[in-house]
Amino acid sequence: MQPLSQRSAQYLKGVGPRRVRLLERLGIRTVTDALYYLPRRYEDRSRFVPIRDVRPGQSYTLRGSVRSSKSWRSQRGRWVLEVALGDETGVIHALWFNQPYLRHRFAAGAELIIYGRVERFRKLQVVSPEYELVESSADASIHMGRIVPVYPTTHELPQRALRTILTRAVDQHAAALQDPYPTEARQQWHLPPLADAIRLLHRPEDVAATPDARRRLVFDELLLLQLRLALKRRATRQLTKPVRYQVEGPLLARFRERLPFALTAGQEQAIREMMADLQQPQPMNRLLHGEVGSGKTIVAAHALLAAVQSGHQGAIMVPTEILAEQHAATLRYWLAPLGVTTALLVAGQRPAERRALLTGIKAGAVQLVVGTQALLTQAVVWKQLSLVIIDEQHKFGVMQRAALRRKGFCPDVLVMTATPIPRTLAMTLYGDLDISTLRELPPGRRTPATVWLPDAQREQAYELVRQAVADGHQAYVVYPVIETSATRALRAATQMYEQLREEIFPGLTVGLLHGRLRPEEKDEVMREFVEGRVQVLVSTVVIEVGIDVPNATVMLIEHAERFGLAQLHQLRGRIARSRAASRCILLADVTTEEAQERLTALVELSDGFALAEIDLRLRGPGELFGVRQHGEPQLKITNLLTDEAILVEAKAAAEALLREDPGLRRPGWTLLRSELGLKLAGPQAALASVG
Ligand code: ADP
Ligand code: MG
Repeated sequence: MQPLSQRSAQYLKGVGPRRVRLLERLGIRTVTDALYYLPRRYEDRSRFVPIRDVRPGQSYTLRGSVRSSKSWRSQRGRWVLEVALGDETGVIHALWFNQPYLRHRFAAGAELIIYGRVERFRKLQVVSPEYELVESSADASIHMGRIVPVYPTTHELPQRALRTILTRAVDQHAAALQDPYPTEARQQWHLPPLADAIRLLHRPEDVAATPDARRRLVFDELLLLQLRLALKRRATRQLTKPVRYQVEGPLLARFRERLPFALTAGQEQAIREMMADLQQPQPMNRLLHGEVGSGKTIVAAHALLAAVQSGHQGAIMVPTEILAEQHAATLRYWLAPLGVTTALLVAGQRPAERRALLTGIKAGAVQLVVGTQALLTQAVVWKQLSLVIIDEQHKFGVMQRAALRRKGFCPDVLVMTATPIPRTLAMTLYGDLDISTLRELPPGRRTPATVWLPDAQREQAYELVRQAVADGHQAYVVYPVIETSATRALRAATQMYEQLREEIFPGLTVGLLHGRLRPEEKDEVMREFVEGRVQVLVSTVVIEVGIDVPNATVMLIEHAERFGLAQLHQLRGRIARSRAASRCILLADVTTEEAQERLTALVELSDGFALAEIDLRLRGPGELFGVRQHGEPQLKITNLLTDEAILVEAKAAAEALLREDPGLRRPGWTLLRSELGLKLAGPQAALASVG
């Protein structure tokens, strides 16, 4: 028989073609999906609170029959339905908005269960409660007289119908779920049997027992993930790189002498860790993870120099042309005096220039290359690429990383991100990497003062820009879009550029930068800004990552409500790159509570790690800091915010398991082994799985 994970949901009792589609909308395609579709909460329907006893400010599950109902249009044009619901003890009113189809569902005499918060507004009422119609039917025992699961669903698939389907699915199929662990291991990890956990989550006798059952499923999810990561780590360790590094030598020594500042302790530590990796026979696989402005570029430069000093080539890949240009300029400034050749490779370079460049790379005359994804094209062939650095790695997908890696033979890899991420996410997303962290900023940096002004006070924002320029500094003004469009009434970079230049800052030099300019144009504006000839740079989010112009001390962000927290934090990271005071101004009229929270967080907090936690809470891990990357495992049940303890246990369990039984060959582990695809062996397979 087909395994449950491949059996379509259409074979479930009570599911016809229409419901198949509705279930699919909930993500339920197979029988297994149905078993793993968990309740959002539970209701104790063994007894109901008498309506007489409810108190405002608390949430209740109430049962009553419809006494009367009426509907009307509110002053604000909303369609309102009010239903009077009564039991033997009293009456309460339930209100719904803009859902005209409800009217027919709530005929007089209908039995209803509602759940929601009771308020007193002239009379006792519940606004937009969840509801369920009580129908007398054979399956009444599923919905009544016990603790009942409440699932997330849509109004087309009523709670009751979904509950019936899932309850029957559990009754019929849970027993057939195969537990992937042998009993001893399961007991050692203090987990209930899989089928029991599933049954209990759908049909608890006691809600207090559900956390243990849920822990089992979260553990499963995380164990699998941690096993994958551990295998990937192991595969990397089995590789041997063909090159050797000389980490002590004249180039690095001279570079260190010329540095105009002392490195922070964190930078020194990261450099030591990297140099130790480079000297290992297996390739480095490290993440340099640190706050915006913490000085990752200089750390990367050390590794690049170690490669050059050892007679190899190094590459650094970045997500935007502007950043590539800037890194190339920075590296040349530092390294050209030491005789190191650094080239820039981006799309749209002139053919002759490009040909010369490719020849140089192939011959080894070009030692370092900074580039965008253009580095990945077939035409780029290296003499001896030994080190690959990926900056702002969260902007790249997994595939792109892998592609650059394949350009070298087992190259050392350093990925860098200015995006601080919570520990739990680091352990899952980057669990196959060794991690170096820069927590401190170079000394003397002052946190930017961040203010949030309503649109009506934009003149005040402009004044802050004028002041900064009068003090000899520069400013960014950022817009969410390049052009205004008929459909969205947003201020846009190009239009505002004209207005800022002519009307608002007539005495200042204003430049415009966005992604649709030609490379030479971008280059020109950026150079003028770096050299201080442009005082106010009007831009889009193209400057979000990496850009480093220490003299810029004001960041004015228009329509700040349109940007994510991570983006805002990155944008703010463009200023406060020197000892001067700096200021970030958010112009926004906020419409949603979420936007309100985001902007308030940015005003109140400067620590990227703290902001990352908030972003994780507001947006969920999938969206977090743009880290959604294809090929990354999706966690369905785990909540990275609250399940850290289980994550730590699963990680330890995964490591212990592989230590005792590296190929999972002991009896009892077949299921897990095949889930992990553990068939291949040897270095070739290792390389493939490192990808
Ligand atoms: P990020 O980590 O965001 O990539 P950068 O590498 O762009 O940061 O560095 C930000 C700025 O700080 C640059 O101007 C850089 O030259 C400067 N910087 C880096 N390290 C130090 C240090 N130890 N002391 C003073 N300034 C530093
Ligand atoms: Mg950077």
